[in-house]
Amino acid sequence: MKRIFLSVACLALVLGSCQNNANEIKPDQEEIAVDMSDFYVYTAEETTKSGHIHGPQCGSMKVLNRQLKENPSLENRMFNVEKHTRKLIAAKSTNATSKGKPGGGGTPAPTPYQGSITIPVIINILEDANHPVTQAHINSQIAILNEDYNDMNPGTGGVPNEFNNAVADVDITFVVAAINRKASTKTSWGTNDAMKHSNLGGIDATDPANNLNFWICEIGGGILGYAQFPGGELDTDGVVIGSDYFGENPAGGQYGHGRTATHEVGHWLNLRHIWGDGGCRQDDFVADTPSSDRANYGCPSYPTVHCKTNDMTMNYMDYVDDNCMYMFTNGQNDRMRAIFSTGGARESFVN
Ligand SMILES: [Zn+2]
Repeated sequence: MKRIFLSVACLALVLGSCQNNANEIKPDQEEIAVDMSDFYVYTAEETTKSGHIHGPQCGSMKVLNRQLKENPSLENRMFNVEKHTRKLIAAKSTNATSKGKPGGGGTPAPTPYQGSITIPVIINILEDANHPVTQAHINSQIAILNEDYNDMNPGTGGVPNEFNNAVADVDITFVVAAINRKASTKTSWGTNDAMKHSNLGGIDATDPANNLNFWICEIGGGILGYAQFPGGELDTDGVVIGSDYFGENPAGGQYGHGRTATHEVGHWLNLRHIWGDGGCRQDDFVADTPSSDRANYGCPSYPTVHCKTNDMTMNYMDYVDDNCMYMFTNGQNDRMRAIFSTGGARESFVN
């Protein structure tokens, strides 16, 4: 949704007539101002208006609400992550016009990270004999992530013409760094992050500043998975996936094709749900995704109209069946890449 307002504010040069002040602001230095007025972190527990009896498949926003209550500084940290992201994305447009061109004057401002990104992945499995996670599940899950984050999902051919130009090759590769297994008799871990702590029966995160930690366990409550957004505490950073929804697994039914992980890693990379977890005016902070006021389920026929525009139901950040989601947009790609730039919440992954 196009809500990003950007302006370039030239800072005034205020100097005494004859003084050579070391802190002087040069006339060509600029600060990119971004509008943060639409930023939100708290959401209603249940925001979908679809009328479906589905619960929230993804627990990320519920978990975020809990973490915000437990940790008052989190909201401010997420605000700063967002502001940094918006500045870099705004700079990309500004550099593309006049200021970044050779001879255009001024130094190009930092933009979202360029180039390929490789993410080492730690797979932490809380083993439940009734819901085994095999090496084949792991291999297929990594293959699906690498397809989806490199624009190689075979379903992408079905993208409607109006969204064709928005399809992004995110160019992120996921590589397994370690697999940790721990037997457990717990059949419902919930969403309180217990699986991330060895003293609560879980497995501690491995070097989360440099690895994406997955926890695979029975979550319960109809939740397929949940992720922690950038800006959160390091010891709980990562993604949780229900055992049956990890990789290619017939036990997962329409969610047994590995796209819960694609969706949750999107949150871990700072993407919001495509409908913005609210009404038509509540944004997902991405310029090239249409406005919507609800999640879509199943395998919607095109067009599906909400908020007077066609929903991008095939986006990984909606709630549709695994085989019916097959794209990220260029705007989402910029947003994900901003956190890897200097000063970004996940810059340690590329440095
Ligand atoms: Zn989600």
